[in-house]
Amino acid sequence: MNLEQILSDLIRINTVNPPGNEIAAALYLQDLFNQAGVPGEIVETERGRGNFIARTGSGSKSLLFLSHLDVVPVGDGWDFDPFGGEIREGMVLGRGALDCKGLVAAEAYAFLKLVREKVPLNGTLIFAATADEERGGSLGVKHLLEHVPEKLRADFAVNEGGEEPLDLNGQTVFFIQTGEKGTAWSRLTAEGVSCHGSVPSLGENAVIKMVRALHSLAAYQPQVTLIPEVKYMMQELATLVGLDLTVDENNLDALLEHFTNKSFVETLRAMTRMTISPNVVQGGSKINVVPDICTADIDIRILPGQDRENVLSELRRQIGEEISIDLSNYHAPTFSSSQTEHYRAIVEATREVAGKEVLCLPGIFTGATDSRFLREAGIPSYGIGHMAEGFDREIWTTVHGKNERIDVASLHFKASFFEKLALNYLRS
Ligand SMILES: [Zn+2]
Repeated sequence: MNLEQILSDLIRINTVNPPGNEIAAALYLQDLFNQAGVPGEIVETERGRGNFIARTGSGSKSLLFLSHLDVVPVGDGWDFDPFGGEIREGMVLGRGALDCKGLVAAEAYAFLKLVREKVPLNGTLIFAATADEERGGSLGVKHLLEHVPEKLRADFAVNEGGEEPLDLNGQTVFFIQTGEKGTAWSRLTAEGVSCHGSVPSLGENAVIKMVRALHSLAAYQPQVTLIPEVKYMMQELATLVGLDLTVDENNLDALLEHFTNKSFVETLRAMTRMTISPNVVQGGSKINVVPDICTADIDIRILPGQDRENVLSELRRQIGEEISIDLSNYHAPTFSSSQTEHYRAIVEATREVAGKEVLCLPGIFTGATDSRFLREAGIPSYGIGHMAEGFDREIWTTVHGKNERIDVASLHFKASFFEKLALNYLRS
């Protein structure tokens, strides 16, 4: 069994979603697990939409290795075949290498290694590689939890979703995702009165009303909110860069000035406040007609602890009463505590595999993964983005972009981490 080869094989199975066709990858995994004597099962939620689930061991404890089989479309401009699965110069190349087939391969490899070595487990290890994550999960984890929740039920889950490790002042820092921001996608609608564009003062221009609203949203100064996990992370980061201060809401932005990596800084900023971004505006149909309607779609992301009411009151405070707000596309933030033996098991396994003193910090993810469904179903879920020491940082930017790839060392680091985690948690 060769880990790189498993990933390469998975990459060569095209599971771009839509249409997904994850069943082909699920069948591949079923065959792989069968060879090790593990009869996994495929749950087909819709024709061609396969979810593969397997389990080993028995006992009171349980741990879920979660990953997803579908990938995003590839686009143009690749330097190699995105579905070639080439293994070259210490890299495995292709769509899904990082998101998320690298994880599928690493989790499968760790699972099967424990089975092959006949390691006695005092608990159940569950492996689930699911469909449809990239388009909302309704044919994957969400469906499974609604129809066959017992198949995923575990003490806790590990999944994708952590930020990549960083080196800060000589210290290696790993991030463990403990929560995800919620989405409160809103549609604003401004209404006016239409008239001929030659005498505009006879009407009431909906676009102009919307422009006023957007102008004040652009000036929005969200309040800084530090949930305990993020506060702890920021405090540790402050200490790492040699600052002698107690981090609070007032000095947070000044602390961020001490980091140079823009994407890191802006990610940290987004972890500490609600964000509001007007991304689609539509209004008017003809140059000589004063428009009577204008809409704006606003991408709003909220922190654990914030809710629909917070969003509405923030919007009203900024835009006043004259524009209507439709907040029907809402998904609550989710969160799993870092004060648990599960979180500590993840930290412990990370340190053991890194083979040196590393700092593990909890964080909030600004995007969304399938972990949100698990958390809502009462299964604590943690995201990791572990990579091997010295990995090429450029690689991380290829997620959802072109030339996606992973270094073989990071792939093995992930597999060792999963093996260690299962051993530590299920053997004790
Ligand atoms: Zn993913």
